[in-house]
Amino acid sequence: MNYLSTRNRDLRMNAPQAIAKGLAPDGGLMTPAVLPRLPASAVETMKAMSYQQRVVYIMNSFLEGFAASELTAFASEAYGGGKFSHEDIAPVVKLDDSAYCLELWHGPTCAFKDMALQMLPHLLTASLEKNDEKKTVCILVATSGDTGKAALEGFRNVDKTKILVFYPKDGVSEIQELQMVTQEGGNVGVCAVKGNFDDAQTGVKSLFSDEELAAELAERGFFLSSANSINWGRVLPQIVYYASAYCDLLKAGAINKGQAINVCVPTGNFGNILAAYYAKTMGIPINKLICASNQNNVLTDFIHTGAYDRNRVFYNTLSPSMDILVSSNLERMIFELSGRDDKLVREYMSQLSQYGSYRVDSSIRTKLKKEFSAGSCDDQQTQAMVAKMWNERNYLIDTHTAVAFHVLEEYRAETGDDTVTVTVSTASPFKFCNSVLDALGVKEHRTGLDILDQLSETTGVPIPMPLARLKRRQRRFDGVADKDTMKGCVQDFLK
Ligand SMILES: *Cc1c(COP(=O)(O)O)cnc(C)c1O
Repeated sequence: MNYLSTRNRDLRMNAPQAIAKGLAPDGGLMTPAVLPRLPASAVETMKAMSYQQRVVYIMNSFLEGFAASELTAFASEAYGGGKFSHEDIAPVVKLDDSAYCLELWHGPTCAFKDMALQMLPHLLTASLEKNDEKKTVCILVATSGDTGKAALEGFRNVDKTKILVFYPKDGVSEIQELQMVTQEGGNVGVCAVKGNFDDAQTGVKSLFSDEELAAELAERGFFLSSANSINWGRVLPQIVYYASAYCDLLKAGAINKGQAINVCVPTGNFGNILAAYYAKTMGIPINKLICASNQNNVLTDFIHTGAYDRNRVFYNTLSPSMDILVSSNLERMIFELSGRDDKLVREYMSQLSQYGSYRVDSSIRTKLKKEFSAGSCDDQQTQAMVAKMWNERNYLIDTHTAVAFHVLEEYRAETGDDTVTVTVSTASPFKFCNSVLDALGVKEHRTGLDILDQLSETTGVPIPMPLARLKRRQRRFDGVADKDTMKGCVQDFLK
């Protein structure tokens, strides 16, 4: 299968090239030239499979040039060997007859980024080998919290890779910082950057465009790459859990064969919900895709009006992993809804970079409204939903997941649509202890890692192992850089 750029359909690559490159040279996103359709028997076949087998079944149809035996090995390395604390990997939890929750946070870092970042290193290293790349890849990441840790865990001790993560000194929670600075592995590095996430990201961007640095590293046998969420190698593993959830519902007798479900996804960069759309186009019976945003509701407005406009106030919310004004993966969605009109996509994206806004034509708008529903949720509503789920259902959720449940509740009240719905849960509540305790009405919070015990004692819910283990971990990294010394960090790291 070939991959093509969303901005130029003639710009083609094979799968290993698309994964190794990440981004098309014209700035577009590499996308399968043809979206495969599952055979009619697929759901029945997958129903009997383990999660790892479902991974191979789905990914195989997108990855020409990769043997099924290869993918089987990747799936077992990524999701097997006790890396996930739940045997179903991505379990579906029943709340009532029409409400289910897909928990995507049982991986090593307790957030849904693990679902993709456990797989990406294997896809990437295999792709580099297939491309006959001799140099060692060094992944650079600027993180606002979840991605950095998930990337460190994913690339930890993966052959022929190094990974260096920069996080903003003032921009991550205490637990997130501890998760990173205690990271184990022989090929990892972590460095704080003075300032906020923007400072860290701007710094990393300038490292990527530093030709002098690239030449120096090439001489020493390295090249820089990113583990960005627009890489096809991150989108693909996410398609699997939607197919998997559908099979599990069927297996549990929650739905009948062929019965369509809705999905409700807390959305930031649009990667997760895009994967649900791809699952649908492959043939998984999904009706509405409900796109849930926090107060940064640029996607809600877009889906309602067809106008995307990033010129607005940026809010720091209680669901920080969704604090985004430019959702990069939306470009792939527009590509599909425009009937794969690369010229139109190019036009919109150039308007976005020039003016910060664009308006899609009426045919795209109509399709958008047919596929999606959208809503947003402020911090107060987020807290109220955490409390409500706990008080009424004894189900503890994090703030990102609460955004989704709030938007679903509004959607149901407005439309009366009571279709069986899978709401996606993207992080363990223990990753956001302060916000969750606040929501539960607990005023005095313990400091450091003791807050994990406090949330556990308050609710009786056990602390996830990867977070509980942090107490026994040594700090390994205490470097602090500023924008001008980040280059030196890379040079030292790759000495
Ligand atoms: C990244 C993230 C999201 C947003 O996912 P997108 O794929 O960017 O839409 C939601 N919740 C959590 C906890 C995340 O880490």
